[in-house]
Amino acid sequence: MKKVFVIGGGASGITAAIFAAQAGAEVRVLEKENIPMKKLARTGNGKCNISNMKIEEHSFMSNNYMKAYDIYRQFDTTRTFAFFERLGIPVINKGRDELYPACESAASVVKILRLEAERLGVKIKNSEYVQDLDRNGGNFTLHTDHWEYKADSVIVACGTNASTGSEEEMLTEKLAAKYSLSFHKYLPALARLYSNGGFLKKWSGVRVFGVVRLLVDDVCVTENYGELQLTDCGISGIPIFDISRFVNIVYDMKKHSQELELDFFPDLSDEELTAEIQRICTGSGKTVRQALLGLIPEKLIHAIIREEDSPEAAAAAIKRFRMPVTAPSKISEAQVCTGGLDLDEISLDMECLKLPGLFFCGEALDADGMCGGFNLQWAWTTGALAGQKAAEFI
Ligand SMILES: Cc1cc2nc3c(=O)[nH]c(=O)nc-3n(C[C@H](O)[C@H](O)[C@H](O)COP(=O)(O)OP(=O)(O)OC[C@H]3O[C@@H](n4cnc5c(N)ncnc54)[C@H](O)[C@@H]3O)c2cc1C
Repeated sequence: MKKVFVIGGGASGITAAIFAAQAGAEVRVLEKENIPMKKLARTGNGKCNISNMKIEEHSFMSNNYMKAYDIYRQFDTTRTFAFFERLGIPVINKGRDELYPACESAASVVKILRLEAERLGVKIKNSEYVQDLDRNGGNFTLHTDHWEYKADSVIVACGTNASTGSEEEMLTEKLAAKYSLSFHKYLPALARLYSNGGFLKKWSGVRVFGVVRLLVDDVCVTENYGELQLTDCGISGIPIFDISRFVNIVYDMKKHSQELELDFFPDLSDEELTAEIQRICTGSGKTVRQALLGLIPEKLIHAIIREEDSPEAAAAAIKRFRMPVTAPSKISEAQVCTGGLDLDEISLDMECLKLPGLFFCGEALDADGMCGGFNLQWAWTTGALAGQKAAEFI
């Protein structure tokens, strides 16, 4: 019987293990933590945003995004839903195209995946940290901190350090260096952004809908809309998470200035907002700041509007508030990382072209998505493809 080893018992690794076992392989998962799927259990605020209805060519961001999309099409949402339905997890659309398990519980998804893996005879070995891997002839030797294992094929599904608090070099990075595979540095994505200035203490705790624009060297490169969470060290919220990957990539280049421009009142133009402030002031004897009380949160008024501001100046500050980005996001606070093994190094079924029998899946690869279920879809897609093919590998 074919011996397949999976390194990492996360969303992609357990999916890979299930598909490899289904295809008839003897499968072992080596997981460095004391339980598998720790990260999966925290997804979607505990509800697990499993996928997204609208997956298109640009949904997966990568240095080779067309290949990421081609990979996705091998095991798309239709096949993913069929997989989950078969496991007894109907997938439902909770609005904004975001898909969740009917039970709305990431913990239950973890349990069901584990039950399925065990039913198929997959052996999961916890607290087993894979440090290195050698290829000898057609076989592989895996070196952990306790043991050495021999495998016919190996699936690397070790994710990234995002959200873990660890800064150690990931196995994928080590293997890329050892076997001269093209690799893009892991950088935090889906994370808060940092700034400085007296306004931060004043606006801390405010949640407000608005537009955020990323200005690189004073040129707007992308924008987003949604609920902004204003904090005492910067800004957070889904629109910020989605922009953070670009900020962190540009930050890493170390040669561009970056600012965020915030529009806290996108529904009105400058002229309309000015006229509205003037209308409220006229005849009421209210100051500009008092006039704004019914328009934007009070803490925001104190943070961004000066006592002496005219209605025009106040409208401009509300619609184009600029804050500098003063530090990159922290990997420990990020939900995922950009970067990873270049997709040119693998086939459409996840096999390393230079090292036949070695497969990669999940976040370890150079592909990531915005908030909304894209990252887990990537884990299901690439895990299923890698598992199937690794079991067939001769
Ligand atoms: C708080 C949070 C919420 C999220 N919510 C969502 C969401 O709702 N929807 C969505 O699409 N995405 C979400 N994500 C992102 C999603 O969780 C990841 O994209 C996904 O888990 C990646 O799966 P993976 O299997 O590639 O990696 P991981 O889930 O990180 O699994 C990798 C596993 O490998 C193990 N490992 C690493 N190195 C080794 C080694 N050398 N030896 C042995 N084991 C090793 C790790 O311990 C880990 O268990 C969220 C992430 C976070 C942090």
